[in-house]
Amino acid sequence: MTTTEVAKDQEYSATELIALEEQYGAHNYHPLDVVIERASGAWVYDVAGNRYLDFLAAYSAVNQGHCHPAILQALVEQAHKVTLTSRAFRNDQLPLLYRDLHELTGFEMALPMNSGAEAVETALKAARKWGETVKGIPADQTEIVVASGNFHGRTIAIVGLSSDPQYRSGFGPFPAGFREAAFGDIDDLRRKITANTAAFLVEPIQGEAGIVIPPAGYLAAAAALCREHNVLLITDEIQSGLGRTGKLFAFEHEGIRPDMVIVGKALSGGFYPVSAVLSSREILGVFHPGDHGSTFGGNPLACAVARAALRVLVDEDLVKRSAQLGAYALERLQQIQSAKVREIRGKGLWIAMELKEPARPICEALQQRGVLCKETHATVIRIAPPLMIGREDLDWGLEQIEAVLAG
Ligand SMILES: *Cc1c(COP(=O)(O)O)cnc(C)c1O
Repeated sequence: MTTTEVAKDQEYSATELIALEEQYGAHNYHPLDVVIERASGAWVYDVAGNRYLDFLAAYSAVNQGHCHPAILQALVEQAHKVTLTSRAFRNDQLPLLYRDLHELTGFEMALPMNSGAEAVETALKAARKWGETVKGIPADQTEIVVASGNFHGRTIAIVGLSSDPQYRSGFGPFPAGFREAAFGDIDDLRRKITANTAAFLVEPIQGEAGIVIPPAGYLAAAAALCREHNVLLITDEIQSGLGRTGKLFAFEHEGIRPDMVIVGKALSGGFYPVSAVLSSREILGVFHPGDHGSTFGGNPLACAVARAALRVLVDEDLVKRSAQLGAYALERLQQIQSAKVREIRGKGLWIAMELKEPARPICEALQQRGVLCKETHATVIRIAPPLMIGREDLDWGLEQIEAVLAG
């Protein structure tokens, strides 16, 4: 592209860019009409130069903050060397990502993919194969239990697990072999487990459902139940993991250890899609060459970015920061006296404001005041800024929320 073409691109106004997007792009999202051009840390800037505090952090993919310089440097340095080898050949970054993931999380092995949904699919495939080859479930009879209200991604198999009609409607038929247990209800989980159950897949806290926290002890009881029935416990920590809830993983709040953990989003600090399944040698050992794969999964660029993103989490103590700032923000938001508010709940820097009225107009009012939030379902607003946010910025954002809810 020539310099003149670049200059011409920059002349598009927000209105024109939105019109282009509406005309030529599929309408599978309903974004706020803010056209972001650049970002740094907890702040994003639109094409007109207005700045906004990011209280969504790309659904927790930018826990480390936008365009973190250390991750950027790793990306650029690696991009100059080699970006993609495919797994037909080895590369010098993948072994180091494996080592780093093991050292940080304690899990014996990892399997890298790209999007979160792909990692969920990978965990489901591993669980089925483990069910057949290790547990001895008859071929094509394995069952996997999922939780009501779940969100695990958008592939056909995964929307088949959803209890949200909009996610499923028009996309069937779906793969068989899944059963749903009411989220948070240990008795229902017990009822749904059969001799053919290979795994229970669950978000420790349901993000897309609106930061729904199950009753204390639920996950620990589910872990015990799974162990008793030789059922694998799989936690989807794509959104709840890597510091968001004030622990490295949300399962730590209940002192358990799942058999498989799925990570994505913040695994790359928002630079690049990187996801992974973390598990044991016994479980990931069910995959043999040719059983499963991905052209981009485990590529050296992704691995270098993920290694830098994990290093930032540790070096900047972002997990502890999430716990401390989250407890402070939750207490402050819970003090809001407003007829609009039904409930405010959260864990770490992951807070849901459940309203008695539609959340979209509140998000639009916050946008006018320079804070970006997004409604989830009709009446919940999720507060999830980058974990590196400064206390003063956080305070300023909370003041805007207080003002909008008071008005
Ligand atoms: C975002 C998310 C996914 C899907 O990740 P994609 O990268 O969008 O495919 C899966 N599970 C949970 C809990 C998520 O929040």
